Amino acid sequence: MAVMEFELIERYFTNAGSERADVLLGVGDDAAILAPPYDCELVVSTDTLVAGIHFFADVDPFSLGHKTLAVNLSDMAAMGARPAWVTLALTIPQVDEQWLDGFSRGFSRLAQQYGVQLVGGDTTCGPLSITVQAMGFVTQGQAWRRDTAKIGDLIYVTGTLGDAGLALQAKQQTLSFTQPHFAELLSRLEQPTPRITEALALNGLVNAAIDLSDGLLSDLGHILTASGVGALIELEALPLSAAFRACQSDDTVPQQPDTFWQALPLSAGDDYELCFTIAPEQKGSVEERLSQQGLVAHCIGVIDGGPGLRCVQKNGELYQSEQSGYEHFQ
Ligand code: ADP
Ligand code: MG
Repeated sequence: MAVMEFELIERYFTNAGSERADVLLGVGDDAAILAPPYDCELVVSTDTLVAGIHFFADVDPFSLGHKTLAVNLSDMAAMGARPAWVTLALTIPQVDEQWLDGFSRGFSRLAQQYGVQLVGGDTTCGPLSITVQAMGFVTQGQAWRRDTAKIGDLIYVTGTLGDAGLALQAKQQTLSFTQPHFAELLSRLEQPTPRITEALALNGLVNAAIDLSDGLLSDLGHILTASGVGALIELEALPLSAAFRACQSDDTVPQQPDTFWQALPLSAGDDYELCFTIAPEQKGSVEERLSQQGLVAHCIGVIDGGPGLRCVQKNGELYQSEQSGYEHFQ
């Protein structure tokens, strides 16, 4: 490793985030030494973000630092895990200190917010690409999985759906919605909130869960396939943000067909909300725990014997969708 790289790591990435007592040795040696709690299971996940595929190469580096970590913490939330440690493999085309400064500040701020420490990584030269590995803990046997939804379970989603997708459409089709609605939607795309707080609040109450990275139809579909069940969801019950609704009725923008607005909350990716199922008798406890902490999740449907995922419209008819979600190899 060149001296230059060493200085960069020292300056921007040495033990960024929280300082944790369970990190016996962090950045600087050949590997980190970590001490997981003896009574927990270790939950590990990795996600890569590639310029031009997962983000615009010219995106604000602070937002990118935030999002890179957020998508990985979202996987921890989807497992019901408390995140602890992350590693960062960074491939950059050149040393741009202003970019590194913004990126590391966005990354570190979010890490600090959730008590996470950056304990190691790798820095190389090449086309911009970022890989994070996240590690967290769950109480033995308590992790949330995709293959454990039961017939009769209620299906919930946190937050609101379609905001990130609408921001992306607005950027790509250059629909210009009125501020501050557009700013709010853009922050949902560029700085998503990993639903860690919601996940920790629901500890012990959830049967199955996934985070919504590729769109509700696609991601809930994974729960159904893994669990060997079906589901019925109500389109009217899908939670939409005030900003989303305001854009929908913004008559300064060329009119989009109804199908455009219907498809976004179902099929657009990048929301990073949680979709989880609970036994119906847990409804009261779930809603009480969430409201105690000022958190929000809405019931959107029910797990049944199938077949597959069916969406009911307000008029009682089934909704037929053409898209199912984002597919990388399509
Ligand atoms: P080695 O050549 O022994 O693999 P490296 O030069 O890759 O060592 O890294 C030196 C130290 O800096 C290691 O502790 C590694 O974990 C850490 N490191 C390198 N790049 C990053 C990064 N982007 N973020 C956090 N830690 C990093
Ligand atoms: Mg290395």
